[in-house]
Amino acid sequence: MNENIVKRNQLLWQTVIRGLQSRNMSGYYAENRDEALKIALSLIPEGSTVTMGGGMSVHEIGLVNALKSGNYNFVDRDAWEDKRAAALQAYDADVFLASCNAITEDGVLVNIDGNANRVSAIAFGPKKVVFIVGMNKVCKDVDGAMKRARNVAAPTNAQRFGLSTPCSKTGACLNCKSPDTICCQFLITRFSRFADRIHVILVNDTLGF
Ligand code: SF4
Repeated sequence: MNENIVKRNQLLWQTVIRGLQSRNMSGYYAENRDEALKIALSLIPEGSTVTMGGGMSVHEIGLVNALKSGNYNFVDRDAWEDKRAAALQAYDADVFLASCNAITEDGVLVNIDGNANRVSAIAFGPKKVVFIVGMNKVCKDVDGAMKRARNVAAPTNAQRFGLSTPCSKTGACLNCKSPDTICCQFLITRFSRFADRIHVILVNDTLGF
């Protein structure tokens, strides 16, 4: 990553974490992926049931491999034939892992979902939600975060999953209502009712899209 971006992130992360704390959420800062992995594992007690709803960033710091090889009950939905049954496991899990499509400088999380299993589990169910978030996801405000989610994250995911949407052909959102749209549900997380439920690990790296 460009050294000036690294410095920008080093200046910005404390603002984001203060914003999270003001919203009853916990924030952590990792200078790199290895540090992020250590922090994540410190938040997940051994023996926990852990699920996730996609999230490239979770894979990119090595957390999925660490959980699979460790003393955890990791529900690997890719290994389940019945995807609905696998997704339903999330609602009573100890820990749900996710990334976000964007986060504002003052700690608001923005997520878009097609099937809604991810955003619904973030909103309610699992006892603890741990986000892995690259500093590339930090946006000025909710408007900027929504624009990022719809013009960067969603088109990239649509291409990744081979969906037939306008954005998978143009690379930008055309506000479609196509059957394949992944923009069915928008979740804006501006406050956590429960303390110690939502934990956000900011990583000084480019993670996910
Ligand atoms: S609304 Fe449609 S075109 Fe826009 S990002 Fe979502 S899927 Fe793509």
